[in-house]
Amino acid sequence: MFFADAALLAECPEYRDLHQLDQHICFWCECPKNKLGDYVPPDKHHPRQDHNLYRTLADANTKVAKAELSSRHVHQGFTMFQHIPCIVSDLPKPDHLHTMQIGMLDHLQKWIFHIMKTNERLDKYNAIWLSMPAYHDLTPKTKSYEEVSHWNGKEMKEMSRYLLGVVTQSLRGGSHAQHLIFNRVIQCIRALLKFYIFARYKCHDDATLSNIEDALCCFHAFKDVFVLGRAGKNAKAKANALKAELVKKRKVDKETNAESSTPSKKWREMNSWRDYISHEIDVSKELDADFNFLKIHLMSHWVEQIHRYGALPQYSAERHEQAHRTNLKDG
Ligand SMILES: [Zn+2]
Repeated sequence: MFFADAALLAECPEYRDLHQLDQHICFWCECPKNKLGDYVPPDKHHPRQDHNLYRTLADANTKVAKAELSSRHVHQGFTMFQHIPCIVSDLPKPDHLHTMQIGMLDHLQKWIFHIMKTNERLDKYNAIWLSMPAYHDLTPKTKSYEEVSHWNGKEMKEMSRYLLGVVTQSLRGGSHAQHLIFNRVIQCIRALLKFYIFARYKCHDDATLSNIEDALCCFHAFKDVFVLGRAGKNAKAKANALKAELVKKRKVDKETNAESSTPSKKWREMNSWRDYISHEIDVSKELDADFNFLKIHLMSHWVEQIHRYGALPQYSAERHEQAHRTNLKDG
């Protein structure tokens, strides 16, 4: 029991270093870093992390064994989990819901912001957000999402109740092309929230578990609509460099054709250049952006976890964290 408890506590992402794993590596399975953003069907899970195997390899201390550990993203050195007489990955994991609230829902908000901003809907989105009434114990909003410096799990949980409605209202209208994008945005958000809501059930049957799996599959099917919001610093820097280069080309083109072009032709060419540059920047960001981060992958393990150990709320650390905050306030 002691070992099981110890392993359970140490299975939080914050304790990943205790497992001697690389950053951004799943502590359940050996999913490659470049596959973390892929949907994992229930019957296609990656091999489990096996600390007993890692101990054997570490004890062997040969060149081949070290290379094997390295290929599995495991550091050499002592870890107590290599001495627990079971497969550590098989033990229950705590606090998935908290990971979802402060992880995936936070990511989702940032992606939504990107969509709202690029489609000039941010002011409308913030206005609808702030107009949310204190209905059914919802807290009245005095600040937009980005004006709040820190969101806690409880606030995120409440936000999940009205987010879809706010987004849907904010994306009403627009061109046909925008409409196609907005539909995918709404489908994706609906799927992730459905996944989260079903995962919070206190008991399950085959139908609820099937709903969780379907929602996850649907989320992955539509998530590409947010790919530009995933562009990191490098992708943005590369896109900016490309933009500067294309703007320079446009200037040369404009100067070359200055005398021969009529005003209407110049106007058409300017619009054509603007659309071309915008398209090329989007393509550049898309090529360099991906969804390969740990929290999106961890969701693929939830249904199996519920199957084996029961509903997730019973493993929530929310109450303990609330007690910790209260203790801090009380000094
Ligand atoms: Zn995994």
